[in-house]
Amino acid sequence: MKFATKAIHAGQHPDPATGAIMTPIFQTSTYAQSGVGEHKGFEYARTGNPTRSALEDCIAALENGSYGLAFASGMAAEQAVLSQLSAGDHLLSCDDLYGGTYRMFESVMRRYNVETSYVIAGSSADYERALRPNTKLIWLETPTNPLLRLVDIRAIAEVAHRYHILLVVDNTFSSPYFQRPLDLGADIVLHSTTKYINGHSDVIGGALVMKDEQLYQALKFYQNAAGGVPGPFDAWLTLRGIKTLALRMRQHEENARIVARFLLEHLRVEKVYYPGLPSHPDHELAKRQMSGFGGMVSFQLKGTLSDVDTLVRRCKVFTFAESLGGVESLVCHPASMTHSSIPQNIREARGLTDTLLRLSIGIEDSEDLLLDLEQALG
Ligand SMILES: *Cc1c(COP(=O)(O)O)cnc(C)c1O
Repeated sequence: MKFATKAIHAGQHPDPATGAIMTPIFQTSTYAQSGVGEHKGFEYARTGNPTRSALEDCIAALENGSYGLAFASGMAAEQAVLSQLSAGDHLLSCDDLYGGTYRMFESVMRRYNVETSYVIAGSSADYERALRPNTKLIWLETPTNPLLRLVDIRAIAEVAHRYHILLVVDNTFSSPYFQRPLDLGADIVLHSTTKYINGHSDVIGGALVMKDEQLYQALKFYQNAAGGVPGPFDAWLTLRGIKTLALRMRQHEENARIVARFLLEHLRVEKVYYPGLPSHPDHELAKRQMSGFGGMVSFQLKGTLSDVDTLVRRCKVFTFAESLGGVESLVCHPASMTHSSIPQNIREARGLTDTLLRLSIGIEDSEDLLLDLEQALG
């Protein structure tokens, strides 16, 4: 099956009891068992729920994986991956990361004696050089957040596997529609399903997808042991959102290209970051690794923090808010919002300055988006 068909049908079958074509919301905490050790595959809803299973199977199919696991948030999915590490292990990560991921590495994992070091916009050789004898996991986010640099998944997977290290890729920014890391050699794909996968800004959720059964069993064990699972209604909403993922991603991208070109020409804009622009340093890699450039555009405004404040207050169609990947357009100020947990000196060194703005381009009419930006920049 092709992507758009899987988005609608994978993991979902008409309900055998009633014929309902939509997966029911199994709002239950437990399941009747017929005798000792005899049940229908479900015992207790932290361990398993049919609505959640449908979601897990659907996301797994979209990522070309064999197994999916759904979580209560992207961070809960991250925690499940990190639970595979032990005290004394080393984690190697790309440096331009979701702020909450950085906070988890530095303020939580460090206390458990798991040290993280960061590779700055590097090649696979830079990753290989940064390995330590105790490196157990490589963590990539690509395109990175918020500077939209790319990391070569295939090349780094090759390095990771040579050293028997697990490679996890946070695929939240591309969604499986534009990029499938398992096909490029990653061991685990991670999503904040809060973003493009659900796509309607009404659920917090996360997911992991993998091919290896042993790895699945280990992560499934942790999911049940720690219990960071989504409720059935959130699983159902996310499944409903996924049905239009292909349509939405196409429109997000079309609008993002138009907005990026508009910003590139604008006198008040210092710099535009969008992998679809030929001037983007990773444009060639983006063409190779992704089947499209996505819906996120960042730019540097000419001026000061107070000009940034004026701009976000003037926006009418764009809403000034954290998060991304929903049908509505958002503008976010990473330095004070999503990335405020990164110390200022580290932030500035990474190019994440006070005048950087990140746009999540929605699926509104692109003419309205340009008019709004024009008046806000004016
Ligand atoms: C939002 C986000 C997360 C965290 O997900 P939550 O659902 O908010 O817990 C992780 N990675 C990326 C890239 C994100 O954008």
